[in-house]
Amino acid sequence: MDILKQRILEDGIVLDGNILKVDSFLNHQIDTHLLDDIGEEFYRLFKDEHITKILTVESSGISVACAVGRIFKVPVLFAKKGNVKTLDEATYCEQSYSFTKKESYYMNVSKKYLGPKDTILIIDDFLANGIAIDALLGIIDQSQAKLVGVGIVIEKEFQKGGKKLRQAGVRLESLARIISMENGNIIFS
Ligand code: 5GP
Repeated sequence: MDILKQRILEDGIVLDGNILKVDSFLNHQIDTHLLDDIGEEFYRLFKDEHITKILTVESSGISVACAVGRIFKVPVLFAKKGNVKTLDEATYCEQSYSFTKKESYYMNVSKKYLGPKDTILIIDDFLANGIAIDALLGIIDQSQAKLVGVGIVIEKEFQKGGKKLRQAGVRLESLARIISMENGNIIFS
């Protein structure tokens, strides 16, 4: 998606630890026009899949997921993060690890909103090592919902998440794929 890549080149800031900061249009201030374009692009890619719900994780995935859900006219469900494992019968719970915060947490989704009748598209802002998406896949597994695929705004292809998902046969669509950020130079595949 050229308009997205252009914006990453103009506004993206490469931080230590292979972190790309895109606070000016995605992760703090949000460019709603760009977000609409992103939603439309995911719609074009997944429109034939009879999706019933978009699944993401709080907080930075929510805005993108809403842009997608609005066009598909389906609800957006986001996993809530917590520090303790939820043991109650009414919740799907998976452990995960934050790439940016370097800490473990649990993802929780109420069983009320996800079940075997659902056909799910997962949406997130970034894909690095795939730990967050792995936990969402675990939640989908527990719920017996059908997974259609994973839509990512920015994939850092030099980290292992994308390769792992594609090898596992998951349909992964990333709108911008970065192969290198060495010395602050962003290069797309
Ligand atoms: P993963 O679980 O794939 O290792 O990391 C994905 C999650 O970490 C995303 O949901 C995103 O919030 C965060 N993340 C990973 N890499 C980056 C990055 O370079 N920049 C930003 N802003 N967030 C990132």
